[in-house]
Amino acid sequence: MQVQPTDFDVIVSGAGPAGTACALFLARSGHNVLVLEKDQFPRDKVCADNKTWKCLDIVKELGLWAEFERLPKRQIDGVRVTSPSGNEMYTPLHREDVRVKGPWFNVRRYHFDFMLAKACKKEKNIAFKEQCEVVRPLFDSKKPLQVIGVEFKNAQGRTEHAYARVVVGADGSTSPIAQAVGVSPRVKGRYALNTRAYFENVHGVHNQCELYYLKGVCPGYFWIFPVDEKTCNVGVGMRMEDIERQGVSLDEKLKELLLSPAFKERFCNARQVTPLKQWGLSVLGQRRKCAGSGWVLVGDAGTFAMTFSGEGCGPGMRSGKIAAQSLHTALQKKDVSEKSLRLYEENLWRVLEPEVKGFRWLEFLLLHEGVFDWVIKKASKNKELIELSSRMQNDYTLARRLSSPATLLKLLLT
Ligand SMILES: Cc1cc2nc3c(=O)[nH]c(=O)nc-3n(C[C@H](O)[C@H](O)[C@H](O)COP(=O)(O)OP(=O)(O)OC[C@H]3O[C@@H](n4cnc5c(N)ncnc54)[C@H](O)[C@@H]3O)c2cc1C
Repeated sequence: MQVQPTDFDVIVSGAGPAGTACALFLARSGHNVLVLEKDQFPRDKVCADNKTWKCLDIVKELGLWAEFERLPKRQIDGVRVTSPSGNEMYTPLHREDVRVKGPWFNVRRYHFDFMLAKACKKEKNIAFKEQCEVVRPLFDSKKPLQVIGVEFKNAQGRTEHAYARVVVGADGSTSPIAQAVGVSPRVKGRYALNTRAYFENVHGVHNQCELYYLKGVCPGYFWIFPVDEKTCNVGVGMRMEDIERQGVSLDEKLKELLLSPAFKERFCNARQVTPLKQWGLSVLGQRRKCAGSGWVLVGDAGTFAMTFSGEGCGPGMRSGKIAAQSLHTALQKKDVSEKSLRLYEENLWRVLEPEVKGFRWLEFLLLHEGVFDWVIKKASKNKELIELSSRMQNDYTLARRLSSPATLLKLLLT
């Protein structure tokens, strides 16, 4: 296929948090953007619905705070982690961070993603097309690695082509763009399958995210996240290889957990108000290719969700923002070669590397249940370590300090 006259500066495939953030930043820098989304908003998305400052800061930066404040949501003041043997550690958000930024919130993706989609629709530089499923990227026949557009099925089911200088793969953990350029979003050892539903009337719910790293489930976890005054997002996620090795059905596992002695009283009057839905994603572990000639990957398509928690909305939006800034530079230079777009990979990795290094220790804990139990038992009694854990909620690079000799000594002496 010959290079076609470009209809757009950028095509964004997928309108989740990563794609919409990227499109909005690009449009506001004066670029002409086509967003193609396979679903129609508002739509559900399997998630646990937590929004940390990583996400909320970008919502503010995009000027969407007034809209965000109007969404149904639940304030979150801290995180409760329970280790496989039942040791608990509550980490409140740090009071200084809360003073400056406010608390976290849990908001259903149904509302949050619709807010982002509406913002895109209002933007004069964005053509926003729903019910358009991207099938594959289009390559230049003379330069076979150069992406020049996408093939998609339009709302009427007809095949269409659209052309742009750059294609952003923002189409999540099954991204056809990522797969076609040879960067699978499904990473062995880092891919977890999850199931979740909404429940009303769960007992003992506070303004907290509860994560239970249970025996047989860890390094995955069972969660209870309140999303408004009466509803909780409840689910369980496990590594794919653990599901296969144990031969478990995830939906059955969740039902079993709700009836187990640890949770049955909290769920005795609870009513499941939506069906169970499953979705998978890989968490970030190491640097991976996320840019090439005429293409970049953002969000789950690039596997940028955090290890330990699986948090991906804020990290996805952040990658979308960094991609937009890097693409702005490349488009101004009229150079969208792999070498030029590698600027995105460099800029993103500069931010991610210290976080990934810090999270290695947390990852080690998740893979060694006995050590994890011991650390949570000790750390939950040590004010200084709780303080460090609180500050870490705003700065993940501090996770590195958790494995420092000083911290280990504090644990031993507690
Ligand atoms: C069970 C679970 C719980 C989670 N809990 C949290 C949490 O509490 N907090 C948090 O921050 N993160 C959480 N995450 C991670 C978070 O959901 C993702 O990291 C986040 O959604 C990534 O955003 P994204 O825009 O990259 O991808 P997505 O949100 O998946 O968006 C991709 C978009 O692309 C569209 N699309 C897909 N294929 C195509 C195609 N071929 N053509 C056109 N459009 C397409 C999809 O319809 C979708 O709208 C959780 C994930 C799971 C699975």
